[in-house]
Amino acid sequence: SHFIVGLTGGIGSGKTTVANLFAEQGIDLIDADIVAREVVEPGSEGLAAIVEHFGEHVLQSDGQLDRSALRECIFSQPKQRLWLNECLHPLIRKRMLELIKQSTSAYAVLVVPLLFENGLDSLVDRTLVVDISPELQIKRTQDRDGVDKGQIENIIRSQMPRQQRLDKTDDIIDNQGEIQEIEQTVFALHKQYLSLSKAVLS
Ligand code: ATP
Repeated sequence: SHFIVGLTGGIGSGKTTVANLFAEQGIDLIDADIVAREVVEPGSEGLAAIVEHFGEHVLQSDGQLDRSALRECIFSQPKQRLWLNECLHPLIRKRMLELIKQSTSAYAVLVVPLLFENGLDSLVDRTLVVDISPELQIKRTQDRDGVDKGQIENIIRSQMPRQQRLDKTDDIIDNQGEIQEIEQTVFALHKQYLSLSKAVLS
């Protein structure tokens, strides 16, 4: 696709739910979380660089990245955290660009939790935020994952504040109501993106 929509929103806001509605319209999805795992798969350039930097102890016996060992390495080590981010971001970006090139739908949706935080909005033509209140973020994430409230609050605090995200975006889906209510909004946006993608081609 030539036209790329970046879909973002805080934890538990409904990104996956919304992305699946675009997929139902035949739109290709590119998921940043999947790409982030791909670039450190066994045999990848990313995993090789991490092992060279931190040592073999960040590998599990099956050759997969030991994420908790890696987390230990960067925990309260800003320099190491920075090194890891600077190692992975170019690889993630490159892989996303490859997947964008391979996409054949009229436009593609890039699902990125930290779209603005990580500057990945520079890869997209249009941004779409799924928006709910922090109270609902906590409730829905708790219902889904059963993790404790404090942990979710920490994640919310580590992400861009709600209003800042809303100020930056082109489009917004208000997901505070029932799931059925967003279907029409997604369909209206889909039609808008189809016409924008045609305008890009001409
Ligand atoms: P994360 O950032 O944690 O991956 P996400 O933004 O992808 O989350 P979803 O997984 O789509 O969010 O939604 C979070 C939870 O809230 C899911 O269990 C989902 O089924 C539920 N949910 C989404 N939208 C609504 C809604 N409008 N009403 C009630 N529940 C909803």
